[in-house]
Amino acid sequence: ATPSKRSYTITLLPGDGIGPEVISVAKDVLLLSGSIEGIKYEFHEKLLGGAALDATGVPLPDETLSVAKESDAVLLGAIGGYKWDKNEKHLKPETGLLQLREGLKVFANLRPATVFPQLVDASTLKREVAEGVDLMVIRELTGGIYFGKPRGFGTNENGEETGYNTEIYAAHEIDRIARFAFEVARKRGGKLCSVDKANVLEASMFWRKRVLALAQEYPDIELSHMYVDNAAMQLIRNPKQFDTVVTNNIFGDILSDEASMITGSIGMLPSASLGDSGPGLFEPIHGSAPDIAGQDKANPFATVLSAAMLLRYGLGEEKAADRIEKAVLDTLNRGFRTADIYSPGTKLVGCKQLGEEILKSVESHI
Ligand code: ATP
Ligand code: MG
Repeated sequence: ATPSKRSYTITLLPGDGIGPEVISVAKDVLLLSGSIEGIKYEFHEKLLGGAALDATGVPLPDETLSVAKESDAVLLGAIGGYKWDKNEKHLKPETGLLQLREGLKVFANLRPATVFPQLVDASTLKREVAEGVDLMVIRELTGGIYFGKPRGFGTNENGEETGYNTEIYAAHEIDRIARFAFEVARKRGGKLCSVDKANVLEASMFWRKRVLALAQEYPDIELSHMYVDNAAMQLIRNPKQFDTVVTNNIFGDILSDEASMITGSIGMLPSASLGDSGPGLFEPIHGSAPDIAGQDKANPFATVLSAAMLLRYGLGEEKAADRIEKAVLDTLNRGFRTADIYSPGTKLVGCKQLGEEILKSVESHI
């Protein structure tokens, strides 16, 4: 599809720790790839997390949320740090991020796990198992046991203390995440695996029924179902069997972390959180890495790849997204590495210099 709009407003939320360093690189990459592909950006840089707490007393200022809501996409660095770890819950940087996700009404969390051929030895798995892994976990983000009611602490019939939560999904909640996943699978390898626990849980039986019904509209997608315990095992045993995976909130929380560890390089992994309409939120999966903040050691690839997801899934600018992803591969091929992905025989550089090298690759690659 040809994008109708070639000028976009992007909210940048550098946040804390290494956030500003990696966002600065991603911004330059967006600008250069945009100028080559004929895309214009207006950037609005706003406060979130610890940076916002220090400046305004709250982790998500009203102004940040309203600007973010009115933009075409939001690109976030990372939030948090030792300095705010002992704060009360409503004054924690992490609370600001949760409020932002809620405010943007994003319900689908996309986390690719890609083993880059140049970094295959970073994987926790054997080379022959890890080589060629390129999968995407899609996690439902606003329903399920994390939000289901009733929830709380109580007492059972024997007078013993209890704690309880409710796994509940309404038809429309399953339909929208499943439809989303079928569409993503269509853009990727054409295979979708729906993960549930339909042999035990009614909520999962219902999930499977709705996914199966929706599959009628996607005859071109090869759909399979897997129980979550088996999926957890298969991800380690043979991750290459997966292309796109869709699952509920809690299973997705666990499986997406497991999948990211297959790649072994936290500094390489992007994510996207998307809703029905309104801007998506794009961020690296790593945290603010306070141990290396301000030392020009951060790996900016995860944020640059998040910018590529912003273009592909947020703006529908596929060509510019392709260009950035190819530039990442090209920079790796030319041997440039930050310390977290360094191996003997490659060239160790800082965040800034790696950014410069990525820009060269953006320019030279079609
Ligand atoms: P969170 O803030 O989400 O709880 P965390 O505290 O568990 O995350 P990170 O902040 O991601 O973890 O850092 C974990 C380790 O990985 C740290 O040693 C950090 O320096 C390193 N790390 C994380 N991101 C990067 C990056 N982009 N480049 C280099 N090293 C990184
Ligand atoms: Mg942390």
